[in-house]
Amino acid sequence: MSGSSVRIGIDLGGTKTEIIALDSAGHELMRRRVPTPTDYAAILATIVALVGEAERTLECRATVGIGTPGSVSRATGLLRGSNSVCLNGQPLQRDLEASLERRIVLTNDANCFALSEASDGAGAGADVVFGVILGTGVGGGIVVRGHLLDGPNGIAGEWGHNPLPWPREDERPGPPCFCGRTGCVETFVSGRGLERDHREQTGEALAGPDIVTRAESGDAACEATLARYEERLGRALAHIINVLDPDVIVLGGGMSNVSRLYRNVPPRLMPWAFSDRVDNRIVAHRHGDSSGVRGAAWLGASATC
Ligand SMILES: [Zn+2]
Repeated sequence: MSGSSVRIGIDLGGTKTEIIALDSAGHELMRRRVPTPTDYAAILATIVALVGEAERTLECRATVGIGTPGSVSRATGLLRGSNSVCLNGQPLQRDLEASLERRIVLTNDANCFALSEASDGAGAGADVVFGVILGTGVGGGIVVRGHLLDGPNGIAGEWGHNPLPWPREDERPGPPCFCGRTGCVETFVSGRGLERDHREQTGEALAGPDIVTRAESGDAACEATLARYEERLGRALAHIINVLDPDVIVLGGGMSNVSRLYRNVPPRLMPWAFSDRVDNRIVAHRHGDSSGVRGAAWLGASATC
């Protein structure tokens, strides 16, 4: 197997680090998952060891792409905004390039998700794909004709910390967000946002999946919570449509597994989109939890090896 045809992707998460190797057609050649260490030097050593092991097994030299929460500052080359706090302020990309003796590509996990789904997932073949993570937090990534948009600040697609658009009086100023502002999209349409809203409206502390299950069995309060969630998600995505008008919006993260969203959110876009019709498709991810690591592998293919 020629070295340049193998693409290694690494999903560096807060608790686990996953490696995958794909051939040029996207077929999986190997995959392994290990716990993420808690100090920087050990994280570097783990990634270098995983890449070395994969290349020995596959008898190749591969391209390497890495996806992780947070982003790399173009100005300083340092990682910021990671929930693995030992990585913040570290030159992760530079250090890995020195150890692996090649250029690598490093981006945030929402970008990897968007690229994976645009490359051979639920957004394959579409011109413009907006990939959305609706998980513990809310992130996004933009892929245009197969090319991931990054931007001078490395934050293209980060809609989660825009304010919830067209807020009602009872949504102002909105819940406090970890970013220091209030009323961010993330505080309403993340999994935690759903749980907080239900707790505030009913006094009942329920986990997100329980809210969904109870709504399905006819619980009126849980049904109302999900209806509020869908209406807010419609508003937040209409904002994206007015700016980007993507052909496909692919949903990922825990909330994307709530099947009623794909029926109930599209009709909630129309009142807010600046158009006489809304033809953007909202679809579920194809690769699920594997999208991060697969997107990292696709991304790495643009680097040298
Ligand atoms: Zn925020």
